[in-house]
Formats: sequence, C-alpha cells, structure tokens
Amino acid sequence: MAKYVYDFTEGNKDLKDLLGGKGANLAEMTNLGLPVPPGFTITTEACRHYLAEGEVPGGLDEEIGTHLAALETTMGKRLGQADDPLLVSVRSGAKFSMPGMMDTVLNIGLNDESVHGLAKQAGGNERFAWDSYRRLIQMFGKTVLGIDGDRFEHALDELKGKRQDTELSTAELRELVGTYKEIVREETGHDFPADPREQMRLAIMAVFDSWNSERAVLYRRQERIPADLGTAVNVCSMVFGNCGDDSGTGVAFTRDPASGRQGVYGDYLSNAQGEDVVAGIRNTIPLQDLEQLNKGAYDELMAIMATLENHYRDLCDIEFTVERGKLWMLQTRVGKRTAAAAFRIATQLVDQGLIDLDEALLRVTGDQLAKLMFPRFSTDAERTLLTKGMNASPGAAVGKAVFSSERAAELAAAGEDVILVRRETTPDDLAGMIAARGILTSRGGKTSHAAVVARGMGKTCVCGAEELEVSISGKRFTAPGGVEVTEGDVISIDGSTGEVFLGEVPVQDSVVVEYFEGAADESDELVQAVHRIMAHADSVRRLGVRANADTEEDAARARRFGAQGIGLCRTEHMFLGERRQLVEDLVLAASPEERKAALDALEPLQRTDFIGIFQSMAGLPVTIRLIDPPLHEFLPDLVELSVKVAKGEATDKDHKLLEAVRRLHEQNPMLGLRGVRLGLVIPGLFAMQVRAIAEAARQVEGAQAEIMIPLVGAVQELEAVREEAAAILADAGVEALIGTMIEVPRAALTAGQIAEAAEFFSFGTNDLTQMTWGFSRDDVEASFFSRYLELGIFGVSPFETLDRDGVGRLVRIAAEEGRKARPDLKLGICGEHGGDPDSVHFCHEVGLDYVSCSPFRIPVARLEAGRAALESAGSGDTR
Ligand code: ADP
Ligand code: MG
Ligand code: MG
Repeated sequence: MAKYVYDFTEGNKDLKDLLGGKGANLAEMTNLGLPVPPGFTITTEACRHYLAEGEVPGGLDEEIGTHLAALETTMGKRLGQADDPLLVSVRSGAKFSMPGMMDTVLNIGLNDESVHGLAKQAGGNERFAWDSYRRLIQMFGKTVLGIDGDRFEHALDELKGKRQDTELSTAELRELVGTYKEIVREETGHDFPADPREQMRLAIMAVFDSWNSERAVLYRRQERIPADLGTAVNVCSMVFGNCGDDSGTGVAFTRDPASGRQGVYGDYLSNAQGEDVVAGIRNTIPLQDLEQLNKGAYDELMAIMATLENHYRDLCDIEFTVERGKLWMLQTRVGKRTAAAAFRIATQLVDQGLIDLDEALLRVTGDQLAKLMFPRFSTDAERTLLTKGMNASPGAAVGKAVFSSERAAELAAAGEDVILVRRETTPDDLAGMIAARGILTSRGGKTSHAAVVARGMGKTCVCGAEELEVSISGKRFTAPGGVEVTEGDVISIDGSTGEVFLGEVPVQDSVVVEYFEGAADESDELVQAVHRIMAHADSVRRLGVRANADTEEDAARARRFGAQGIGLCRTEHMFLGERRQLVEDLVLAASPEERKAALDALEPLQRTDFIGIFQSMAGLPVTIRLIDPPLHEFLPDLVELSVKVAKGEATDKDHKLLEAVRRLHEQNPMLGLRGVRLGLVIPGLFAMQVRAIAEAARQVEGAQAEIMIPLVGAVQELEAVREEAAAILADAGVEALIGTMIEVPRAALTAGQIAEAAEFFSFGTNDLTQMTWGFSRDDVEASFFSRYLELGIFGVSPFETLDRDGVGRLVRIAAEEGRKARPDLKLGICGEHGGDPDSVHFCHEVGLDYVSCSPFRIPVARLEAGRAALESAGSGDTR
C-alpha cells in the first residue's frame, strides 16, 4: 500500500520529489538534530491523486490520523484540546520553491474554548491568545474559504487606526475575532469551523487546491516549472513569535545572496508571527541586532547557520522563530542568489574546500552568465540621484514609473518599458513584475517578496527605498528634496547599487563583457570567479564553439570571446547597400554577357569581404554559406515600384524591375526559389562566390575555408553544385571542405545519401524547426505562440530551445546516418539554438563536433558545453 504521510524524522533532503523542498529540508534539519517543531508531511503523490481524481486517495485520512496521534503523544496535548491545545500550521511546499505562491495557514486548532487554553499555556497571556485566534480566522478565511483578504485587512485597519498591531489590547483583539467571524458568516453563509480536525482537513485541501491558483500557474510558467508536480503539505506544530517582546520571527541567509559575501544577512521582527517579517507591516531590524535582544538565541542561530552551510555545501536561506527566548528552525533551503553571487559563491566554496571545480561549474548556469553580460549604467553620464534603496537584484533598468500591476502589464503590452513602483509587493503583483523592466519598493528588506521574486526572475530590483513617499492612489512618489515622480515619468534603477535616478541614464558594458574583451580589472572578485570557472569549462568540454559572424568586426569580437572558428558566415549582406544595384543588374540581365558582367562586378567585392574575415580568424575554420535568400529580397518593393509607375515617375529600369519583381514574387518565399535552388537556376552565381572564396583563401596565409550549401533536400542538388565548386577550388589550388546545411527535413531523413557528397553537416535548426513544425517564425510568433505556451503545447518556444522530440529526432537521425556513411563527417549546428543552454546539452549528447552561435552568446555556449560534458560523465544534476 502506498505511503502518503512521512513524519519529519522519516524523510531527508533528497526526497524533494515526494516531500517537496520544504518537507524534505524540515526532515533533514530534524535528523541533523536541529530544533525543528515536530510534524509530518503529506506527499506530492497524494496531491497529484487529489488533483486528478477530485478526491483524496483512499486511506489518506486514516494515515493522517495515525501521524497526528503520534504527534499529539510527542507533544503531550491534543489538537485543539480546550484546556491545553496543540496548534499546528498547514504549509504548502512543492519540489521547487515558489516563494509566497501557495498558501499556509497558522494556528490551526483554535476556537472559542481552546483560545483560553492557549492563554493559560502562555502564563495567562490573553492578548497573545486572541492575537493568534484572529490571525487564524484571517488566514483561514482568505486562503481556505476564499474570502477577499481586504475585508479582514480593512476591519483591522479600522480598529487600530494609526497604531501598530502590537498596540491592540486584549479586548480589542477579542472584538476583532468577533468581527472576523461575522465576515466569515456574511461571506460564506456558515460559521467559522470550530472543530480542529475539520480546520486541519479543510486547510490541507486548500493547499492541494492552491497548486492550481492563478498566481501559482503564472509563476510556474514564468519559471518553467512543470505543471503536474503537485505540492506536498506540511503539518507542523506551532511555535509562537507573537507572545511578547522576548519572542519574534526572522529570515536569514548564510551569505549575502546579492554578492556572495559571508556574513550576517537577515531581518528580524519582535513580537510577530509568520509572514509579518516579509509583509512589511512594521519595520524589521537587521539580524545583527538580535544579538542585543537575545544573545543565546542569536549565538545558536549563528552556529546552526554554519552547520547548514557545511552540510548543504551551499548558501542556505532560513526561516526561524524565537518563542520566549528559545530558537526554532522553521525552514531552510539552498537559497536563490544573483548571478554574480552564484559565480562568487561557487569559487569561494572551492577555496573553502567544500566543493571541487567540477561541482563549481555545475552550480552556475549559462543563463546566469548571460545576465552578467547585461549592460550597466554609465558612471560618466550626468545623473540625478533621487535616492538609494537596497540592492535587491542586479541590473540596470530604465522605464516609465507605474504604480499598479495592471498598468505595468498594460503599458508593457503596448511596447513600453516600465518600472513597477510599489510600497511593497504581494503575490498579486506578479503579472506586473513580469511585465516590468524593474521593480522599486519603498519598504521591505532583501528578503521581502519583491526582492525574492525579482532575484528568482533575474529582474532588476531596488527595495526598501524608505526615503520615497509612495502614493499608490495618487500614482506618484516624492523623493527627498521634494522631487515628484508621477506615472509615466522615466526613472532609472540600479539593482547592483540600489540607486534610483530621475530620467534615462545611458548604459555601458558590464565588467564581465569587459573581461571577455580583455579590458577588465583583473583584481575584481567577480572577474576572477568567472575566469576560473570559464577556464575549467574550457578544459572539460568536448564540444567546440564557433561563431555566427558575417563581418570582420563580428569575427574579431567572436575570437576575443573564445570562438574557435566561424560556423556560419552569411554572404547575403554582401549583396545589400550600394551593391543592390549589381544584384538588380544580375536579375535584369537579358543575355549571358550581361549576366557575366554583373557577376564580374560582384566578385571582387565578395573577395575583399572574405579576405577580411579570413584575416581576423587567423587560421581558424570559417564556414561560408553561399547565398540563401530569394533574390527578390534584394529588389525594390512591389508596391513602391507600382506607385512610381502609376505616377508616371518611373524610369526604363523601373519598368523592367517591376516586371522582374512581379515575375519573382512568391506566395511563400521561405519555401520558394532560394538556397541551392537559386544556385542551380541562376548560372554562374555560386561559381562566382566559390571563386571569390578560393581567391581570398589563396591570399590569406593559413585560411581554412569551408563552403556550405544551404537548403539542400536531395543529394543530387549537392552533387551538381559540388562538382562545379570542386573544379574551381582545384583550379585555384586551394583546399576547402564542401558541405551542406541540414535544414530541410528530407535532408535529415536522407542524410546517409547526402553524406556521400558532403564533408560536413551544419544543422540549420531555425529553418529545420520551421519546416518540421510547418510554421513560419515571422508569422506565428506574434500570432499564436503565447496561446500555445498558455495551453502548455510548448513549455518554451521551439525557436528558443531545440525541440528534442521532433526537430531533435531529425538531428539525431541525420547525425547517426551521416556518420555511418562517412565516419569523419564533421557535425555542427548554426541555428540560434547553438547558444541556448539546453540545446547545447542536446548537441553534446548527440555527438556534434561544435555549436555555433552569435558572438555574444559564445561564453554561454562554452560554459554550457563544459557543464554538458560533466553532466554526461555523471557528475551531477545540472538543473
Ligand atoms: P512560505 O512557503 O510562503 O514560506 P511557510 O509555510 O514557510 O510559507 O509559512 C509562512 C510563514 O509562517 C513563515 O514565516 C513560517 O516561518 C511561518 N510558520 C510556518 N509554520 C509555522 C509554525 N509551525 N510555527 C510558527 N511559524 C510558522
Ligand atoms: Mg517559508
Ligand atoms: Mg536556413
């Protein structure tokens, strides 16, 4: 029989799939002997069953009953017992942490009788008991009964007026409980459930249901967390931070999640419970100050944090509560961190001897590296500093200030850059946070909702800018000195320094880009960390990394970034600009002589381009793709020409061009006369390009040309072109590989034949994706991709991450059959996927020789190629 409930003493940190992250880590801490309030975890499997079948699995209630009875024995009191109640929290906890995305209910077990028992337990502290009771009805009402939380908030605000919540008297709290019960009756038509077991049962169901709440669904989509994992439920005996000034609750990190530095980072709030510390209801104090308030608890916490770091060998974040001087651990997990901190922490842990370089490499990602390559604000520019808040999540964001999530989403949808400004954020702000370039709050510390979520999303965030007076209803904030910023005014926020500027501040390269450019300050800690990890990635990777580069400048940058060659040099841009004229002549040529004249005029221009590229790649391979797009792309626009003709302003040539444009017009140009088809139909065009390549290669010492034929679907196409090209190369006395792109499904399916005529394959996965799915990227991305993502038809756009099952299968077939026909066949990829982390791993798995991507993505590809090598060698889980 399936086991659906695990006591905290039964689990461990590796059971996240089953127990969720929170439950697995509570168990781990329990087994480490840390002070965790006893409890048990209901598995994700039970949740999945409930969500699929609409009812809990058979036997679950009994199993929960058995574990509750055991807990009651341990604690020496029964759930909700009138004179001495056991209270519990019912907490969600999925495999991947979803901060604040799902629901938790505290103080379960209170009712009109047990509230007196609780007061008795606390030495007659009635105030505390009634505060706990009103919190239960408030949380239960909102998350279990689905009542609008504002109703409770308003009742509370009305009662307390300008006072703090801690200043409410026992009588007032008792009155508030009455009001809350009245709200429950009004909203649901029923009384607040007094039976403790019923409270617990309903709360567990609500946590299951919260897996599919709107904000949880949105968060998962954003973070690419699978929708079918379900959440576990933790039932945990209560400890109380709200029973006076010797109690409180806090959050902490074992290191600074923004920089990685070791130290004491956290927030603490006296006489408070649960979310109070992150909700910004009162001002928190820095964790250091706990030492003054309660040295014993503080010292114990520091010792536990050291234990956790050594045990998890990583940065941990922590939730804890102090109940009348005694410390309790309520949560830990390997903490989210900024990209810079990830690199720094990984190398710091190597230096501390906790992990080796392999593991350090596995702990950083290409996405994080890409974030470090984002630009930062220029320090030379004139800047008007409005204020400085906390540097919660790095980056340089510029946009119009907006004061609500709805407005942020609205303007962003209209293509505007916005900065979402709030006092603090709540899970309801998620849509606006996603839409915004950056987030600015006036309250809350580095562990506030805004900070945690922004870091998770890699979004720039400045929080706790307390000098700002934010008026949400007035859609404005006032900075020190009286500067007012109203909705629509542009501001710039720097998430690395916490600075907030008026107006648009120009941006400059990040230090990491400067490092790749060879221009960084080598003493910079981040630069050193990146350098060490990149060097290690290069030493372990098997995949080569090349660049997609069409110009000398791109080629030169690509080399500085570590490219080992060019995997795709497109030749079509060489037909643009002033050279368009020559292409027009080519298209209009009425005789072989005229055509030859046009080609002869193009050839030296092409040659010069190739010489430049060969020179900047100094002996590294350069794959040159012969012309690919349909010719009419180089001709004037049909409508413009027609207008000219209609207006009688057309020249003779215009008339001829119009005719040609009409003749060459295609319904589906992507599937029309292009690539190798063009080479076979327009005599001399490919030959001219090959001659230009051969001559350029002859002139540049060590040049290594690879000639690539696009859009081949049948070996016969390739053979025809190859024969002519090989003859030209032989004439010039130049050696060069001749190969093809694999971008038409038929080419992949007949790869064995095609390999007979090709010395290399390069997977053109942009076209291959379009043709495999049967949609054109330009047409479909805007029209229905967001809907498809919503429906879960794609987890991610197949143009971003290679679709392993479909397109990937074709790549696999072609690689295998190609290699079978020609064992030394060189294999590469030159679609944009070449710089996408997941796709790089795929390329490693199928045994390609190299990936090729845009120059800026090269460091990412190098890093991920290293990680892929370690991953396939079984060094670990790289998620
Ligand atoms: P989240 O996943 O949003 O962090 P939690 O389940 O951790 O939600 O609970 C929300 C808050 O309630 C946290 O601050 C947590 O520390 C506190 N809390 C949860 N269970 C207990 C408990 N048994 N006793 C005291 N505080 C608790
Ligand atoms: Mg928590
Ligand atoms: Mg293509």
